[in-house]
Amino acid sequence: MTWPRKTLANADKLCIATVIVAMGLSACTHTPTPDEQPAGKASAPAVGLWRGVHLFANGDQIEPLKRAIVEKLAPSGINILVLEVDYGFEYKSHPELQWAKPISKKQARELLEVCRKHGMRLIPQFQCLGHQSWARKTHPLLIEYPELDETPQIPLDNPGIYCRSWCPLHPKVNKIVFALIDELIDAFEADAFHVGMDEVYLIASDQCDRCRGRDAAELYARAVNDLHGHIVRKRGLEMLMWADMLVDSEQVFSSTTWGGPTCRALDKIPRDIIMCDWQYGDTRDYPSIKYFIDEGFRVWPSGWNGTRATKGLIEAEGRYAHPRMLGHLYTTWSAVFDLYEPTGAEPGGRRGVGAIIKETAHLIRPAPATRMTAPPATHAVDREIRMEIELREEGNFGKAIRSASAEILIQDLEGTRVKSLGRAVSGSTPAKEVCFRLPVGSYRAVLRGDAHLEGDENHPFEVFSPAFRVAKAHAHAARGAAVGLVNPFSPKYPAAGVSTLTDGILSDETWWSGDWQGFHRHDLDATVDLGRSVLIQTIRTTFLQHQDAWIFLPTSVENAVSADGESFRTVAEMTNTIPPKKPGAFIHPFEAEDLNTVARYVRVRAHNIGVCPQWHKGRGGPAWLFVDEIMVNPAE
Ligand SMILES: [Zn+2]
Repeated sequence: MTWPRKTLANADKLCIATVIVAMGLSACTHTPTPDEQPAGKASAPAVGLWRGVHLFANGDQIEPLKRAIVEKLAPSGINILVLEVDYGFEYKSHPELQWAKPISKKQARELLEVCRKHGMRLIPQFQCLGHQSWARKTHPLLIEYPELDETPQIPLDNPGIYCRSWCPLHPKVNKIVFALIDELIDAFEADAFHVGMDEVYLIASDQCDRCRGRDAAELYARAVNDLHGHIVRKRGLEMLMWADMLVDSEQVFSSTTWGGPTCRALDKIPRDIIMCDWQYGDTRDYPSIKYFIDEGFRVWPSGWNGTRATKGLIEAEGRYAHPRMLGHLYTTWSAVFDLYEPTGAEPGGRRGVGAIIKETAHLIRPAPATRMTAPPATHAVDREIRMEIELREEGNFGKAIRSASAEILIQDLEGTRVKSLGRAVSGSTPAKEVCFRLPVGSYRAVLRGDAHLEGDENHPFEVFSPAFRVAKAHAHAARGAAVGLVNPFSPKYPAAGVSTLTDGILSDETWWSGDWQGFHRHDLDATVDLGRSVLIQTIRTTFLQHQDAWIFLPTSVENAVSADGESFRTVAEMTNTIPPKKPGAFIHPFEAEDLNTVARYVRVRAHNIGVCPQWHKGRGGPAWLFVDEIMVNPAE
């Protein structure tokens, strides 16, 4: 379950951009008006951090791109340009594989000169393995060399598929592709190369004689290793790739990943690859950044979807500051003209990347590594909040940290200081613990301080925790009671963990609120120990349905009670009558009333629909069951 794929949700715009690149139609660039000119000098780029922009360009777009570098990107402190070239270059080794209006060698050199003059590194990109077509248009490789096609039986106008792939096992494919990559490396005098490799959904296809029945993770890893062998080992460059196919979506929440077997390729690829972890949803947190750091990779988080989501991702980058957390990459999935368009409605406003960069690039700043155990999304107003805070003497300043110290603050979401909780100092063990209470509201913890770097340099920093809510708890007889679960909840959606089903906190309809506990394919089978015998009248369990996010109400809910926790008596069986097709996000309580029974233990079994129905976009895939509270005799 996740947000839509980046491109499907915005197919119209991306398609236009790609078609312009592909067909060599003139791009609709325009001269910026005085209003769009940079207002003044932006702050100097942060020490060591990568502030990148990813975009497409064909030969017609090099002039506007050069202008954008001078007028928009460099003044905002952008220091890396990732230029997705694909087939848009005047290839000499394979002239049959170039789109119309390709970038010439001369244009590449001129662009490189402008980049260098403005302190910008240029990293060319060639989309490898997947994305060999877009919409109805198949890219040149699989038209000229149909034998390299992973799905040769699918007509070339691509009905019913997302994007074509090349076959990673065909003996000819690397020879051709490496020749193209070599030309780009040479033309752009590159010291790093981006191989793409996102959204490879056609892999190990039954239509391919070589790949049929093979393990998708093995095939994906082989393609990565082949490219690494050429680009890193042979040519001595750094290699970057999109990271979505490598996120284990069973374990790690990601705002973009659909998951799949290719994630197992992660154990089979070199650690010197830079993972461009693209995250476009506006969510509480982005733990996949830490996931790749912990796996030993350098990570370059990549954002896109409007100013708010971009800010949220940049804050998470600070939270996960580490020597291997490189900075921030703005993606555009478009050509340079997108930089000049006004910011669209948010969320979903992907236009006007230039405006987003201008508003957020100064927030990309180095920080020391920190740990803040901020409360899971919502905390009850009548309970003390405990946080552990740690400041480490490492980070991404590009210099050794001698020491760091920070004031621990609680702010509301407008940035107003609500509480000061003293100071945290680096290197102190055990971690600093703070306990406090807050009125109803939404907050974040902030560490605001200075890092003292080697060479007697002081560097201010600010690190934000994810936002959390403090709310009035709902009173009921099971509040605070111990819960035993037969099936584990997903580590991706733990909410507050084992205590969450009886913490008195009810979520809103947002599945990523942090207050929903998620069961992936499993049933909920929970036993609540009330601690003593109680006269039970009502048992109410609240569930979420949001079928667009693969979350369905249970098919049925069974309530049982027990005096000893061993022998249970069923007191209610409720069948769900709300269709799984019902659209939108809504909460539904399953409530048994007038039970009039005395018991100490309450068991709730809620049956997951199991797999997404045949009509659903995730048909056959594991369905989610989301629950937030089991209430006994609720007060209201
Ligand atoms: Zn194959």
